[in-house]
Amino acid sequence: MRFDVLTIFPGYFASPLAESLVGRAVDAGLLDIRLVDLRLFSDDPHRKVDDEPYGGGPGMVLSAPPVAAAVEALRSEPGAPAPHVVFLSPRGRRLDAGVVRELSGRVRVSLVCGRYEGIDERAREAGLFDEELSLGDFVLSGGEVAALAVIEAVSRFLPGVVGDSGSVTADSFEDGLLDHPHYTRPREFRGRAVPDVLFSGHHERIRLWRREQQFRETARWRPDLLERFRPRTDEDREMLSRVARDRVSP
Ligand code: SAH
Repeated sequence: MRFDVLTIFPGYFASPLAESLVGRAVDAGLLDIRLVDLRLFSDDPHRKVDDEPYGGGPGMVLSAPPVAAAVEALRSEPGAPAPHVVFLSPRGRRLDAGVVRELSGRVRVSLVCGRYEGIDERAREAGLFDEELSLGDFVLSGGEVAALAVIEAVSRFLPGVVGDSGSVTADSFEDGLLDHPHYTRPREFRGRAVPDVLFSGHHERIRLWRREQQFRETARWRPDLLERFRPRTDEDREMLSRVARDRVSP
């Protein structure tokens, strides 16, 4: 899968894209990430990409022409698949596991990072973006962190990126529940033991215990998710009613 990242700070990405799972995926050729410096698309002799807001007020605005030139260059790249162009923006569709999975099915995604007070509104009006995505209801200083979040979350779904693909399907939100708790050595920590079942060596009992813990964790931390959960197996139906019962009379 290919990502293009349009940014005025390409250097920002050096370490996050070189380390860990994403770094390995890039090395292995599973991920192709191209950094596009928006300044190179500025007509200005000083490569200026921002200007004062019409109407006055604080801050600067990222101007439309360099963004348009960069996006159009990506869209018309010969021989490359058409990109799905995303503007990272606080007003966009909220990023969640469903959106991430949807993006992971695309062959090429271009991520446009705003800065300053944002991008001149006419960039959107001109149809440069296919959609806008938000990381959440808070304001970052630029789209770079949001772009990294998209790349890291999406790459977990690409075959071969996460070593054991089973660990992705058990992750939080994958089937509408949170993950179960995890334990490792030491066997005792500040007087607290590890649940006995995990030493039983009995795979089916461990699996059932972990599944039930997913229901309990979700009930405890994200009851809103549990309310929306629709069980598809008898096992899940049973666990759900058991957890619901225990919540009424703990
Ligand atoms: N004035 C704008 C914020 C601009 S922040 C407002 O109040 O809505 C500058 C840039 O950071 C934005 O253009 C966007 O690309 C990025 N950004 C800020 N918050 C974000 C969020 N929650 N999700 C995604 N991108 C965000």
